[in-house]
Amino acid sequence: MDRKPPAAYFDHAAAAPLLPEALEAMRPFFTDHFGNPQSIHRFGIEPARALEEARARVASLIGESSTARIVFTASATESNNLAVKGIARSLAAKGNHIVVSAVEHASVMSPARTLEREGFEVTEVRVDKYGTVHPGELEKSFHPGTVLAAVQHASNEIGTVQPLAELAAACRRHGVLLHSDGTAAVGRIPVDVGALGVDSYAFPAQSFYGPKGAAALWLRSGVRPRSLVEGGIQEKGRRAGTENVPAIVGMGRAAEIAALNLAAWSAHMARLGGRLLAALPERVEHIILTGHPEHRLPGHVSLCVEFVEGESMLLFLEDEGFAVASGSACTSKTLKASPVLLAIGLPHSVAQSSLMLTLGKDTTEAEVDRFLEKLPPIVERLRSMSPLYAKYQRGEDPYATPESSCEGGH
Ligand code: PMP
Repeated sequence: MDRKPPAAYFDHAAAAPLLPEALEAMRPFFTDHFGNPQSIHRFGIEPARALEEARARVASLIGESSTARIVFTASATESNNLAVKGIARSLAAKGNHIVVSAVEHASVMSPARTLEREGFEVTEVRVDKYGTVHPGELEKSFHPGTVLAAVQHASNEIGTVQPLAELAAACRRHGVLLHSDGTAAVGRIPVDVGALGVDSYAFPAQSFYGPKGAAALWLRSGVRPRSLVEGGIQEKGRRAGTENVPAIVGMGRAAEIAALNLAAWSAHMARLGGRLLAALPERVEHIILTGHPEHRLPGHVSLCVEFVEGESMLLFLEDEGFAVASGSACTSKTLKASPVLLAIGLPHSVAQSSLMLTLGKDTTEAEVDRFLEKLPPIVERLRSMSPLYAKYQRGEDPYATPESSCEGGH
């Protein structure tokens, strides 16, 4: 009989299951409370109230007491676009230079490239072998025309948490605004935007088991991005269009639950993630753990398994029931090496052997143990077919190309 192995979901960075409480909170806004929150008549009242309640809950999750500073959007991608393009364009009269770290997600990088085509000067700041941006490096990139910097709070790919408060202080010293993509951080580590000192902060409901289709951009008082979506008064004109009330309500309820449970969730994910990080190099030879060994997200495990293709590992692991990623979800359907892994100094062929496990609050010890048992034979099998491994075994340099340096590991 064909028995499928049990599924173990280790890809929470790509999508997370919805909290049942969030689904329950959303339900009436698909049915009874279908009204438009902008309507003056009675059908608008409950949606408008719920929208503002959600805004307060979402603000509170990132340490903000004012609801005026949260703009709801449809995705972290949209929040990052609004921040990067909207803020830079609003400051164009002051200066036309922006700075982005070399490890930003495409939803920050692509808007920066669009600004470049519009006439902005864009500088990419390099990172060290752990993917950390150093405040000194950031400051070196500034000049009197610099108006905006963008540095993610944490990496979805390699788990490194940036020294964001120090980076924000460096920006403040030069009168440069700092935008941070908090997608990978929110829901895994505590976030207090005031204490961090950033000027804008983007994050989706998905980061804390909320629904897809809702995200937020927090803006410090006085930061007024030029709107990307015009034609309505919603979100104080910062993002026109009828609000996705059910998703936003679900985001609010999920934020409320995340705030209460974050410490326990983090501790659980840190324990299981720590177990994997400690055991994997003992079980499989030639593994390079990527990202910072200490300043990293709980429950985030990223590694390169030398001499094998990440894609092949993904397929073999899928057969055993494991949902894992190689590179980011957004690039993993192409065979290109991740720019983040190249930015930390890994050669192309090593970068193509990446695995990324993002655990969740419901990941179990048994799932982790099963992964530790199943991965070694998969790697062994793939290496037995690998020309790179054959070269290595013959004592030749498997990476004998012009870019053969091998940094980037713990
Ligand atoms: N930033 C980071 C760090 C991400 O990992 C992602 C994708 N999960 C995004 C932004 C974009 O998120 P979304 O595709 O949900 O808009």
